[in-house]
Amino acid sequence: MSLATLPPQRIGVFGGAFDPPHVAHVALARAAIAQLQLDALHIIPTGHAWHKTRTLSPAVHRLAMTRLTFAGVDKVVVDPRETQRSGPSYTVDTLEALRAEHPAAQFFLIVGEDQAQSLGTWHRWQDVLQLAIICVAARAGFTRASPLFEALHLAPTAFQLIEMPPMDVSATDIRLRVANHQSTDALVFEPVARYIDHHHLYQTA
Ligand code: ATP
Repeated sequence: MSLATLPPQRIGVFGGAFDPPHVAHVALARAAIAQLQLDALHIIPTGHAWHKTRTLSPAVHRLAMTRLTFAGVDKVVVDPRETQRSGPSYTVDTLEALRAEHPAAQFFLIVGEDQAQSLGTWHRWQDVLQLAIICVAARAGFTRASPLFEALHLAPTAFQLIEMPPMDVSATDIRLRVANHQSTDALVFEPVARYIDHHHLYQTA
């Protein structure tokens, strides 16, 4: 096949606070890579999360834990760009930067259902829809009877579903468990549990 006829590269983009990264993030990443047949998946810890009210742990810790979590996952690139940018981390800026680097690629933006529900509040969300196909994974506790799923039917080419068994895991719960000296086994990977312990993260809920 000549270069001109090669299919476009399929690049996934999965952003989050990753405070801390947990097993559901990895399950979602693996499902996305397989189901969307991605050539690469950029995992992008946010710098300044404009949509979260609490102060995040320092980026250096979230980035380190993200690297530990995804170390064994083929095709994953842990991408620090948002933590290196000042100001709010807007997805549209990240997608535009990636598009400039890979002009011929098709981008897939991977989000959990809770994030997808608030898509209409994102900075320049209409541009986000032009830059990437939004790929939504169901999250435990959320329902398909929602405006998002209406939108899925109205604009089927703009959205895709990622099938994965709902996993009742959240970083909020993990932080609480650490603060309360409860086990996080099976919620975060062992190197991350050790990192949290070593750096005394999440001591207060
Ligand atoms: P927090 O509890 O602090 O809000 P979180 O567990 O939602 O954190 P984030 O880092 O905010 O983790 O999530 C990054 C992305 O992963 C978001 O799109 C979120 O919807 C998705 N995600 C997180 N946990 C799950 C899960 N259990 N199932 C499906 N998607 C998830």
